[in-house]
Amino acid sequence: MHEWSLALEIIKSAEKEAKERNAKSVSEIFLEIGVLNNIVVEQLKDSFEIAKRETMLNDSVLFVKEIEGVAFCNNCKKSFKITLPFIFCPRCTEVDVKIEKGDELNLTKMTLEF
Ligand SMILES: [Zn+2]
Repeated sequence: MHEWSLALEIIKSAEKEAKERNAKSVSEIFLEIGVLNNIVVEQLKDSFEIAKRETMLNDSVLFVKEIEGVAFCNNCKKSFKITLPFIFCPRCTEVDVKIEKGDELNLTKMTLEF
């Protein structure tokens, strides 16, 4: 249950942040999730809805921005869009690639209520 533990983690860090700023509650949470994290956004939102109950995030809304995967081929010296589940260069089928985008997992913004 990847999504469930991530939801718990988000709530925990948001509550910590909110308490430090003496907020009453959290009304909005904004996340950026790269596709390479293999997070099913709908499952994450479902988990969040359950896990947030009776916390400072009880009435909060979760917004998720998905970020596509981009890698750089060390052979062609060009970037390409990653299509999961396999990561290889579509031009030369090289697997020696460097991930440039898509492994993000960030809580980018949250709205606090005072
Ligand atoms: Zn290549």
